[in-house]
Order: sequence, then structure tokens, then C-alpha cells
Amino acid sequence: MPSLTTRAAVARTAEDTFHWKTVLLDGPGPGEVLVQLVATGLCHTDLSVLAGRLPTPLPAVLGHEGAGIVQDIGPNVTGLTPGDRVLLTFNSCGHCLKCRTGAPTRCTTYFPRNFGAARPDGTSPIRTPDGARLGGLFFGQSSLAHHAVVSAPSVVRVEVADDDELALLAPIGCGVQTGAGAILNVLKPQPGDTVVVLGAGAVGLSAVMAARLSGARTIIAADIVPERLHTAEDLGATHTVDSRQDDLAQRITDITRHAGPTHIVETTGVPALLELAVSQLGVGGTVAVVGAPAAGSRASFDINSLIDGRTIRGVTEGASVRLTFIPALIDLHRQGRLPFDRFIRFYTPDRLGQAVADARSGHTIKPVIRFD
Ligand code: NAD
Ligand code: ZN
Repeated sequence: MPSLTTRAAVARTAEDTFHWKTVLLDGPGPGEVLVQLVATGLCHTDLSVLAGRLPTPLPAVLGHEGAGIVQDIGPNVTGLTPGDRVLLTFNSCGHCLKCRTGAPTRCTTYFPRNFGAARPDGTSPIRTPDGARLGGLFFGQSSLAHHAVVSAPSVVRVEVADDDELALLAPIGCGVQTGAGAILNVLKPQPGDTVVVLGAGAVGLSAVMAARLSGARTIIAADIVPERLHTAEDLGATHTVDSRQDDLAQRITDITRHAGPTHIVETTGVPALLELAVSQLGVGGTVAVVGAPAAGSRASFDINSLIDGRTIRGVTEGASVRLTFIPALIDLHRQGRLPFDRFIRFYTPDRLGQAVADARSGHTIKPVIRFD
């Protein structure tokens, strides 16, 4: 297979940032597509993998909110042509019962295909110039790179005005669809309901915007970064709680007049906040578990409170059916009803280290690396 030389941000064990390296990329194999990246968003999950909190083997190229242009098509790929503008999203096998019945986020091989940084046979399309293997196909894409070999199910063709618009849409591939989908596809609050969103990062703020679209009466956002709470207010939160300053449980009790929220989206990944969410939930309510703590983390809750009629529900990638949900989110964005552009900041590739630092400090909500 002919290979291409490109630049990719390599994540190595025990390093606290990515390093741009020249790498060799194989041509696209069966079921794969070569994409030239226009932009890639940085998600908290990339940083968790870099920090060794999630079990993706390193060294690897990460990045899973790619937006780019199809360059070449491998065997057995249909519906894509070189020149197509595409958003990149999670991977799935496409042929298990879950994939075939419209639930690709529940693919039976979801975890290895997204976190394994390898093809199902264990190979990777990326290596160093001296031949050392680098993990690839993270979330089917490894898109923190100028070019990527991408698994075809991760590719969604989109119609865009130009590459500036394409770059702006990149975070839909993970952060935006994850938060918006937890509300619109899973929790589905009704007018009059009360939604609590724990964590006002890209995922939480996308949940806030979607909660506003749902007609929920009360939308409470909690975070520990005051600027993020201001953004949450701009995007539709009716109440905000700085959980470093205020007693979060008490504020939820007061705002809901002891009824408890009907829906909670937990995006902080802090086990104590999941425990708080379960204890605060109203009867009949559901907490969507979205934030990912370190592998193996545990939480505890009062079993009888669940028997009383409460649900804890894990949600991956907003339970998105990519080919319909992603275009729907693009339309909502164009209509001004999902203004996630307000929390994007663009960085050139040489400022990736700054983007990582700004995401960690809370200064930037959604860093997006722009490649051209
Ligand atoms: P983020 O870091 O931007 O957002 C997390 C927010 O939680 C931050 O604003 C942070 O200030 C806040 N926070 C942390 N501790 C807090 C506390 N004690 N009280 C209140 N707020 C607190 O990250 P993100 O990109 O929005 O992702 C959120 C989480 O979702 C991450 O854990 C990420 O790995 C996970 N994620 C899961 C999926 C999925 O499919 N389930 C998809 C994408 C991301
Ligand atoms: Zn992500």
C-alpha cells in the first residue's frame, strides 16, 4: 500500500502534551478513506487518554472531532468521492445487530473500535519514519493530524459553504452531539421539566442549548469556572451554580422546591457529583451519565432511591445516529438555535500546546486546531 508522509500530533505515555511529528500514513485499506484535515476539535477525552486515565494504548495519534476533505477511497467504500467535505465522528462495525437496528453507539465492538487505536486485526495505518508503530484510527480517525486514514462509518458527508464553515462544525463530531444528543435523543425533557447540567464544558453547554430547545422550564447549570457559567446563561440556563461557592445540593433543592429535577446530565466525570445527582433526582427522574472519570472509578448510591423510581442511564455520543443527527445539528446551528460557535476558539497547529493548556485551565471551552 503506498504511504504518505504527513504531520501528526503524537501522544506518548507520561508526557503532558502532544508533539508534532512527521509520520508515515498507509493508503486507505478496505473500508477506509484518506482525509485531509481542515480542522480538529480537542475534547476532554483526548486529554484523559493523554493522561493515561483511559486505557488507549500509547504512543498513538489522538483527535476525534475531525473536519476535512476526502482525498482517496479504499476498497469496499460506497457513497463517498474525493473532494467531499466530511465531518468525522465515532466508529462502529456497521454489521452487528445494534448497528443494523439504528443504534451504532451501542455497537458490540464500540469500545475497541473507538478506544483501541487500531484496526480490528490490531494493525495501525500510522508509523514513525523509522518504522515504529503508532496507534491510529482512534475513534476511527486519529484526526489530530494533517491527514488521516479514517474508518468509513466515522465519515459523514456534509454540504458546507466553505472551509471556514466546515472548521466551525468540527466539534459536532463528539462534544456537541454528545451533549445535545443526551437531551434530544435520550432524556427528551418535556415543557415544564427541570434539567440540571453538571459541568459547563462543551458537552454540558451543548446539553444546555438542547434543553432550551426542548422547552424545559428550568435549566440549572453548575460548574466551578465562573466564565463558563456566564456562557451557560447566554446559551439558555435559567439558573447557574458555582459549586465552589455554593452548596449545590441545597440550591437544587431550593430551585426545584424540593421536587428534584426530572433530568440531570452529568458531564464532570467527578464521582461525587454523580452521587449528588442520584441523591437529588426527583421521583421518576433520570440522570444521564456522560462524563468519563478514570477507568475503574466507582460511585455509590442509595439503592432504595432507585427502587422509588429513578434511573441512571449511561449515554455514549448522545446516542447519535450519525447520518441523520449530525445534519440535523448543522441545520439547528445555521438557524442560530445551537450557537456552539460562541464557545469555540481556533488555534494554529503550532499552538496545540497552548490549546491543551487553555482547555485544562478552563480558559477555552472548545479549542479547535485549524490546519490551513
Ligand atoms: P470539559 O472539561 O470542558 O467539561 C467538564 C466541566 O466540568 C468543566 O467545565 C469543569 O470546570 C467542570 N467541573 C469539573 N469539576 C467540577 C465540579 N466538582 N463541580 C462542577 N463542575 C466541575 O470537558 P468536555 O469536553 O465538555 O467533556 C465532559 C466529559 O464528558 C469528559 O469527562 C469527557 O471525557 C466526557 N465525554 C464523554 C462522551 C460520551 O460519549 N459519553 C463524549 C465526549 C466527552
Ligand atoms: Zn470526545
